[in-house]
Amino acid sequence: MIKVIIAGFKGRMGATAVEMVKNDAELELVALLDPFATEKTLADVPVFRDKADLIGFEADVWVDFTTPSVAFANTKFALEQHFRPVVGTTGFTESQISELIALSKMEKIGGLIAPNFAIGAILVMEFAQKAAKYFPDVEIIELHHDKKKDAPSGTAIKTAELIKATRTYKKQGATDEVETISGARGAEFDGMRIHSVRLPGLVAHQEVVFGANGEGLTLRHDSYDRVSFMGGVNIGIKKVMTLDALVYGLEQLL
Ligand code: NAP
Repeated sequence: MIKVIIAGFKGRMGATAVEMVKNDAELELVALLDPFATEKTLADVPVFRDKADLIGFEADVWVDFTTPSVAFANTKFALEQHFRPVVGTTGFTESQISELIALSKMEKIGGLIAPNFAIGAILVMEFAQKAAKYFPDVEIIELHHDKKKDAPSGTAIKTAELIKATRTYKKQGATDEVETISGARGAEFDGMRIHSVRLPGLVAHQEVVFGANGEGLTLRHDSYDRVSFMGGVNIGIKKVMTLDALVYGLEQLL
C-alpha cells in the first residue's frame, strides 16, 4: 500500500483527490493538511494545520493541490522529509523547478510536478509542439474558473515552452501594432501571445490557435470536471515510487 498525504485537502482539487485515493485499494490516505482546517480527523485520517507537525511522519507520497504562494516551500519540505511529491499546484518559476529537481537528485527521491494531469491536455501540448514546426504563427488562449489565482495557467506556460523548442522564433502581430488598451495583446512568451480568460462556470480549458497562408489549425482541450485530472494523479502517485529524481510534466511518465 502506498501511504499518501494530501496537502490542500479542503480545496476543489484536493477534495477530489481525497475521493480518488480512498477508492483505490493500492493507496492509503494517511494524513491531510490545510492551515485553516478545524477538524482533528476526517474519517479516521489525522488532519494537520502545520506541515512542521509532519516531520518524521511515515508516508510515501505528498500530493499537493494548494496555492502558488506555498507550493515551492511545500515541495521542498516534502523532498527533505522523503515524501515523494506529486504536485498539481501551479505557479512555479523555471528556477524553482530546477532547484527542486537538483534537491530531489541530492536526496535520491522521486517526484512529479505536473501543470496538468488531464491526459487530453498532455496530448494537446504534444500535438501543439509538433504543429509549431510547420505553423510558427501561434497564440494560446487559456480559459479557467474565476477563482484561479495565477495567470497565465501553468499549462499555457508549459505549452509555450514546448512550442518554443520546435518553433523558429517569431514575434506575433504587426511590427508596428499599438495597444490602445494596455494588455489587449495578452502576455508575451518568446514572441507568442498568451491570453487568459477567467469566468464562472469554466473549469480548465485551452486552445492553441495556429494561422498560416489561407489555413488555420485549432487544438482545444476541455476539462469539464475535476475528475478529469484524477487518472493522471493516480499514475503520478504510483510512478514516483519507482523514480529517484523529480520530473516536470506528466508526459515524462506516460
Ligand atoms: P482551491 O480550491 O483554492 O484549493 C487550494 C486549497 O489549499 C485551499 O483549501 C487552501 O486553503 C489550501 N491551502 C492554502 N495554503 C495551504 C498550505 N500552506 N498547506 C495546505 N493547504 C493550503 O484551489 P484548486 O482549484 O483546488 O486548485 C489548487 C491548485 O491546483 C491551483 O494552483 C490550481 O492552479 C492547480 N490545479 C492544477 C491542476 C493540474 O492538473 N495540475 C488542475 C486544476 C488545478 P484556504 O482556501 O483556506 O486558503
